[in-house]
Amino acid sequence: MKYIFVTGGVVSSLGKGLAAASLGTLLERRGLRVVLQKLDPYLNVDPGTMNPFQHGEVYVLADGAETDLDLGHYERFTNCVLTRSNNLTSGQVYETVLAKERRGDYLGKTVQVIPHVTDEIKTRIREVAAQSGGDILISEIGGTTGDIEGLPFLEAIRQFILEVGAANVIVMHVTLVPFIKAAGELKTKPTQQSIAKLREIGIQPQVLICRTEMPLDRDTREKLSLFCNVPLDAVVEAGDVEHTIYEAPLNLFEEGLDATVCKLLGLETPDPNLTDWRRFVERVVAPKKRVRIAVVGKYIELQDAYKSIYESLTHAGASLDCGIDMVLVDAEDIEQEEAEKYLRGVAGVLVPGGFGDRGVEGKIKAVRYARESRTPYLGLCLGMQVATIEFARNVCGFSDANSTEFDPGTTNPVITILEEQKDVTDKGASMRLGSWKTKILEGTHAHDVYGNTEALERHRHRYEFNMNYRAALEDKGFVIAGTSPDGDLVEMIELRDHPWFIACQYHPEFQSKPNAPHPLFRGFLSASLAHED
Ligand code: GLN
Repeated sequence: MKYIFVTGGVVSSLGKGLAAASLGTLLERRGLRVVLQKLDPYLNVDPGTMNPFQHGEVYVLADGAETDLDLGHYERFTNCVLTRSNNLTSGQVYETVLAKERRGDYLGKTVQVIPHVTDEIKTRIREVAAQSGGDILISEIGGTTGDIEGLPFLEAIRQFILEVGAANVIVMHVTLVPFIKAAGELKTKPTQQSIAKLREIGIQPQVLICRTEMPLDRDTREKLSLFCNVPLDAVVEAGDVEHTIYEAPLNLFEEGLDATVCKLLGLETPDPNLTDWRRFVERVVAPKKRVRIAVVGKYIELQDAYKSIYESLTHAGASLDCGIDMVLVDAEDIEQEEAEKYLRGVAGVLVPGGFGDRGVEGKIKAVRYARESRTPYLGLCLGMQVATIEFARNVCGFSDANSTEFDPGTTNPVITILEEQKDVTDKGASMRLGSWKTKILEGTHAHDVYGNTEALERHRHRYEFNMNYRAALEDKGFVIAGTSPDGDLVEMIELRDHPWFIACQYHPEFQSKPNAPHPLFRGFLSASLAHED
């Protein structure tokens, strides 16, 4: 097994996750079995309790782990199968170490960061490597070199390199090479200092990924190579992608990143086959058609909050040779005004998941607009719940219909807390999470879309459709199109008299890939294209 550690320097948001995932794409296409892992230095046990403003989207794995959004990149860019061990946080490390201490595993000893915390980190890296059966483990360390929380991870890596031997490991440092306009020059000093920080800990990177707005000239490359003690061909330029993040592996391939990495690790492999990836990128960059899709949410100013949804739209769009013009609508804005002002002319309306009552009334108005104007609608999780509330209120006449999440006292609780959630008080990792089977009813639009009577989809919710309202709603044209196998939980709904109105209690956005779009997104876009015509 070979190991690649990806660290970040100078500033955050350099796209370390994307760099790690892109390297994964390239190595996988050289025939290697790649596994990716994220090490997050923060003290939360997982990001599940963090606000999207703090952290962006919470990405859910098949086993129900609530993880960092970089794991979404890993799954979209490679075929590796991820489980909860692929996202390790300081919170988990300390939780384990402290539990061991209480159990008496360290009896007689002083429990310390070195060796106890670092040992735990190394164990968790080894476990992932062993479970994966892969050839290469790429471990990305969150945060920036120099962060206090990151130190135990870097120290663990230093020890790890010693243990597995330098020939089996490389450290790839993603850094910023800023262009200073006044001087008209690229500056290498921040990178030099960031490398100095790593060397202080005892880590010498072998590869530099230089994020830059300008091409790296020969001089700058030589300077970086000399001062950072990295071979010249391992100084890799990574400019901003022009159109789409899916260009990143292609750009890094042009820079020879995968060849350099293989050389450093002594791996003999053929050049990567990137034909289908290139074709996908071409379709994203220059589609024949375009379609306007509104996403009505409450974190729309934040690029990362609905990451997987935007990516899923891109994948589905590419498969239809169709670019997406995203109309991002703040649900709270609609609350104050007519939905039409924001949604007129869009070809499809999508309402994503969410928690808490902020913006909910705006989302309900958006649903009403889509239903009445016969505009295609895709509701995801909360998007299914607001679709239910809207129908109950405006079609069935239950004027105060609501979810008990937003109005615990409503006389028409069409959405209520899941039975299994009633006694749950802890907020961490306590929702209905991960992959659960859905039974899809034949004769529904949903069945046409899936072409199947079964689906395995990822969940993250506490509330559900209240079956007491089934008859009243179905009577008016509401259709329960998917349920849990025992029929107790509603997993998917649609409207009988609407060209395309489907909403699900789960998150299909976590299972879409560049060349394998999710059927719900593809169906939604096809219908939106037809609606536009
Ligand atoms: N807040 C809703 C629930 O807990 C919806 C969750 C979501 O959209 N992920 O059921």
